[in-house]
Amino acid sequence: MPERAKGLIIDLDGTVFRGDSFIPGAADAIRRAAASGRRIVYLSNRGNMDRDAVRKKLSDGGIAADREDILLSSSVAATFLSRYYRRIRVWTLGEEGLREELRLAGVPLADKPEEADWLVISLHERVTYEELNDAFKAARSGARILATNADRSFPRQDGAAIDVAGMIGAITSTTGRPVDIVVGKPGWLMAEAALGRLQLEPDECLVIGDSLESDIALGRMFGMKTALVLTGSTSASKAEASRHKPDYIWPSIAELGRYLD
Ligand SMILES: [Mg+2]
Repeated sequence: MPERAKGLIIDLDGTVFRGDSFIPGAADAIRRAAASGRRIVYLSNRGNMDRDAVRKKLSDGGIAADREDILLSSSVAATFLSRYYRRIRVWTLGEEGLREELRLAGVPLADKPEEADWLVISLHERVTYEELNDAFKAARSGARILATNADRSFPRQDGAAIDVAGMIGAITSTTGRPVDIVVGKPGWLMAEAALGRLQLEPDECLVIGDSLESDIALGRMFGMKTALVLTGSTSASKAEASRHKPDYIWPSIAELGRYLD
């Protein structure tokens, strides 16, 4: 029996919940893991929500979490910009949750797209033509492009839904400008954020997620153990065929209970 992880890095969409419904058994399994003394962080490529909104959603599903234990591509992007750049102004193609995280990190927003040093692109589930056009103006005026993540789709109640790659494509294909940095999983900024919060060595951590390209790839790249769950974007046959081989394949996160025994 391999040594059990001391820290859990848990994805949200497709792993803990799917749209508004929680995965059966998820809350129980996570509560048991916390009771066993495991440290837990939630690591999500969601860039359209802020951490308080996620904390509320988890709490409604019976999962207690501190804001600092929730790491989103929006909050990690905001930390990156505030840590590495002073005196910048940012334009967003995204939702209020993204702007809230930028404000919390002290990153100033530009008044006009043409004045922005950075364009931050994230998931925007209610995007309009005018918003796309403003982002187009920012990029054409020379703003560098940060994407909170580059996922092509995310699992919603009604099936796969268009993700940030669609927003990125609209801007890069019309301006000819490349994306300068992608923050989300499997990127190093997300791995560093999770390890920094857990204060554990990579091989003491287990990444649990539904995406081979983001969750499993991150765990394998950064020396962590990995468990793929089949409640989101990946089927068992897709997992078999992939070059990203997880250590465990679980029908759902409810299986975490058995792992802890
Ligand atoms: Mg997911």
